[in-house]
Amino acid sequence: MVDVAFPRTVCIDLRRGGSTYAALVREGDAVAAGDSLAEVEGVGGSLGLPSPVSGKVVGFEDENSRIVIETDGEESDEAVFEPLKSQFAAAAQVRNALSCGGLWPCLWSSATGAAPAIDGSERPKRVIVSLVAAEPYHARGRVVLTRHWDDVMSGIRFLPRLMDDYGRVEVILTAVRDPVARKIYRELAGFAWVRLHPVAVRYPVGDPRMLVRTLSAAETPPKPDEIIWVMNAQSSALFGRVLGRGLVPRRRLIVLAGPGVSEPKHYSVPIGTRLRDFAPAELGGADMLLLRGGLLRGAETDFAATSVQIDDDAFFALPKPVTRQAFSFLRPGFDRRSIFPAFAGSALNRPDSHITASLRGEERPCISCGACERVCPVRIIPQVLHRYLYRDRFEEAERAGLNKCIDCNLCTFVCPSKIALQEQFETARAQIRAERLALEKAVRADGELS
Ligand code: SF4
Ligand code: SF4
Repeated sequence: MVDVAFPRTVCIDLRRGGSTYAALVREGDAVAAGDSLAEVEGVGGSLGLPSPVSGKVVGFEDENSRIVIETDGEESDEAVFEPLKSQFAAAAQVRNALSCGGLWPCLWSSATGAAPAIDGSERPKRVIVSLVAAEPYHARGRVVLTRHWDDVMSGIRFLPRLMDDYGRVEVILTAVRDPVARKIYRELAGFAWVRLHPVAVRYPVGDPRMLVRTLSAAETPPKPDEIIWVMNAQSSALFGRVLGRGLVPRRRLIVLAGPGVSEPKHYSVPIGTRLRDFAPAELGGADMLLLRGGLLRGAETDFAATSVQIDDDAFFALPKPVTRQAFSFLRPGFDRRSIFPAFAGSALNRPDSHITASLRGEERPCISCGACERVCPVRIIPQVLHRYLYRDRFEEAERAGLNKCIDCNLCTFVCPSKIALQEQFETARAQIRAERLALEKAVRADGELS
């Protein structure tokens, strides 16, 4: 673990999770840690974005989508919110503190498919706390627990304040006999509202929709229309920090990994620190593709402009191909492997170990190999969806399970034709939503006229 030093300036992104926060500060303003820098309208109320530091706003970047703050230069841990007691805090106090602490979007709700309503109109029967990070190259739950044990446990103790009467906290971990699981049992013994669930650590088990499905095998499975919230270990640690100790979220545990990183490591990084202030400079080279969010779900990001935010877990660096390999299919070396027995490397009976940004040739048409179908965790047939969407047959695609897709990206990853399947499905769902909204609007307008 590398503890990154407190930086001179921090950058706070105003575009996050598909929303754009409106700035509440101007250039030259002095800010204290915990002051609200910006807010956005969420479901049932507004959500805040606290300053992780004390200092002065020195400007805005990237079309005003990033606030730059020159820090006072010290990392102090003084309570800036009112510390609460988990046994006595009122639900409204907890919700308000989580909004002020910028943590409400860390919760995912099965009712909204995003953050839950913040006005108390939504009270789940269960909250799932996942201590398992199954996506490769992400901050491990075990590392978070080791580092922030007290805060994680404190965060869990506040959850009944947000739940319906007789609600349950379902803790997801790797194995009940695991020493960490035993410690959790001891720590939370006596709380009838806690249940532990061991799961096989297999991507994408940490996805909220997959976690909800995991509960269907539980002793008392959820009803189909039951509202379930989901959060992870880092969020629980930050809940404990903000609610139990009144401290502002200050640091984030991330992993910097990938073939472009000589030694993958966990880093504890002050929120707002630019990557270029602590990560190897070669990650910003023209021959490197940097992904924010890990190998499977990461999105391309610009090294020089990126800073670590409250919801970051991982950055993954991939070398871009620099030379074209003409007639590479004729080169049968043992270092060339594929999920299909296409090269001499298949004799080693191991999957492809070369991860690069190369398409290994241009995109090709679907060859009906079935690889995407074999890996899909929700058992839909990506190649069939692809064919429907290729011909703009949206209704058939929906009937074939388009809305069940959880965007895990596994189909795209294994597709030998390098078809951007997940991207195609995501775009199609957005297009269908937009068309339905436009239709509803037109029908409403018609009704008002008649
Ligand atoms: S992204 Fe692909 S593999 Fe993942 S759930 Fe969707 S269709 Fe299935
Ligand atoms: S993995 Fe790609 S080529 Fe194979 S069936 Fe699926 S879409 Fe077609």
